[in-house]
Amino acid sequence: MKKLQLFIDGNFVDGKAGWFDNVNPVNGKIVSQVAHANADDVDAAVKAGKKALEGEWGRLSLQERGTLLSKVADRINERFDAFLAAEIEDTGKPKGLASAIDIPRGAANFQIFADQARSFGSESFMQSTPDGKGALHYVQRMPLGVVGVICPWNLPLLLMTWKVAPALAAGNTVVVKPSEETPSTATLLAEVMSEILPPGVFNLVHGFGPGSAGEAITNHPDISAITFTGESSTGEAIMKRAAEGMKAVSFELGGKNPAIIFADADFDKALAGTMRSVFANCGQVCLCSERVYVQRPIFERFVAALKHGAEKLVPGDPYDENTSFGPLISKQHREKVLSYYALALEEGATLVSGGGVPHFSNDFDEGFFVEPTIWTGLSEDARVVKEEIFGPVCHIQVFDDEDEVIKMANNSEYGLAAAVWTENISRAHRVSQQLETGIVWVNDWFLRDLRTPFGGVKRSGLGREGGIYSLNFYSELKNICIKL
Ligand code: NAD
Repeated sequence: MKKLQLFIDGNFVDGKAGWFDNVNPVNGKIVSQVAHANADDVDAAVKAGKKALEGEWGRLSLQERGTLLSKVADRINERFDAFLAAEIEDTGKPKGLASAIDIPRGAANFQIFADQARSFGSESFMQSTPDGKGALHYVQRMPLGVVGVICPWNLPLLLMTWKVAPALAAGNTVVVKPSEETPSTATLLAEVMSEILPPGVFNLVHGFGPGSAGEAITNHPDISAITFTGESSTGEAIMKRAAEGMKAVSFELGGKNPAIIFADADFDKALAGTMRSVFANCGQVCLCSERVYVQRPIFERFVAALKHGAEKLVPGDPYDENTSFGPLISKQHREKVLSYYALALEEGATLVSGGGVPHFSNDFDEGFFVEPTIWTGLSEDARVVKEEIFGPVCHIQVFDDEDEVIKMANNSEYGLAAAVWTENISRAHRVSQQLETGIVWVNDWFLRDLRTPFGGVKRSGLGREGGIYSLNFYSELKNICIKL
C-alpha cells in the first residue's frame, strides 16, 4: 500500500496523528494511506516556514524567485503522467478532462506567477512640500510571512497551485493542507519542491478540518494569512478563527450559479456550453450552473435538447476514451447529492432526466457515481433552487424578459459566476452589468485568463485572486517617504 507522508522543512515525515485512508471514488477501494498531521506537525511546519523566511529564500530577488517557479512549472510538465495518474486515482475524473485542465493548469499557475514576479513593479509618488524641495514616496512590497493554504478536492492540483504559486512569487513561505479526499498530487508537488526550493519554503500537512490539521492552521499565531477555497460555511468558521490575531483572509467559496439563455442565443452553442457548465467534472466545479433560465420561445426545445445531451453522457472507467462522466468524490458526498434528488421530488419538481444511480455490474457499482439530473417546475424558493448541491444537476426555469431573469438570477445568497447566452450585444452588456456575481461569461463558460480578478460576492467569497490581484493579497505594502 502506498504511503503519502507530510513534507516539513524539506523532509518527508510521518504524521503524529497516525494514518487515514485515501479512497478511489471509481470503485471505493483504498489506494493509499495518508499521514495525519496534528497541531504539533502544523507547528513544526510553521516554524520551518518562519526559518526559511529568515534564510536564503528571504534574500532572493523577485527575478530569482521567478526563475525557481518556472522550474517548478517545467518539472510538473516533465512529470505530467505521474501527476495525471495521481489526480485520476484520487478523483476518478475522466483522463481527457484531467489532462486538458487539471495538470496543465497546475503547471501554468507557476509559469504565470513566475512571469508576473519578474515584472512586478511598485508605484512611486512625487509630493510637493512647503520648502519647495519635495518628497518621494515609494511603495515597497513585503511578503506577509507564513501563509496557510487550505484547499478543496474538486480541482486539487489546479486550485492548490493557484494559491501556492502567487504566495511564493510574493516571497512568502507556505503551509499547505490539501483536502483529505485528494492528497496525492499535493504529495507529488512536495517531491518537485524538494528538488527546487530551499527547505521550509513549501510545507505540506495532510489531515481534516475541525480538530485536525485544517483547524490547527487557522489557530496558529504565526500564520499571517489564510487563503482558502471550499464551502461557504467552512469559510465562515475559518474567518472566526482568523479574527484572533488579525490574519488576512482570501476566500473562494460556494456558488449557485445561473446560466441565462435568451431566445436570440445561438442555440447549439448555448446548448453545448450549458452541457459543460452543468455537467463538467460531474458538476463539481464551483463555477458550474445549477440554475438554468431559458426564455419562453425556446424553453421546451432547450429542455429536450439538454435532456438528450445528459442521457448521452457515459459514466465509467476514467481511462476509457468513451467515458465522459466521472463519479462524485466520496460516499458521503454522494449521500448528500442523493438527498437532494429525493428532496427535489418532495418539493414538487418534475424530473426531466436522471435522478438515480447508474449500474455497471462490475466494481464501479462500489464507486460513487450518480446520474446527471435535470428538473423543472420548482419555485424560486425551493431549497433545491437555493442551496449548492455540487453535483451534476440543474433546475431549468422559464422566463419572459430581462428584468424578470435578472431578478431571479440575483435572488441568491451566492454570487460567484454567471453565464449569459445571447447574440444581442447591447443585451449582453446590460444584463452582465446587473448581475450580482464576481464573474460573468457571455457566450462561453470557464474561459479563464489568469491575469483577471477571480472571486465571488455575497457568500461566494472574499477578495480576488488572479494576476496582480493575487500578488496584492500575498504582499504587504509599505509606504517609504524620502524627504528631498
Ligand atoms: P470544504 O469546505 O468541506 O473543505 C475544504 C478544505 O477545508 C478541506 O481541506 C478541509 O479539510 C478544510 N476544512 C474543513 N473544515 C475546516 C475548518 N473548520 N478549519 C480549517 N479547515 C477546514 O470544501 P470541499 O467540500 O472540499 O469543496 C467543495 C466546496 O468548495 C464547494 O462549496 C465549492 O463551491 C467550493 N469551491 C469554491 C471554489 C471557488 O473558487 N469559489 C472553487 C472550488 C470549490
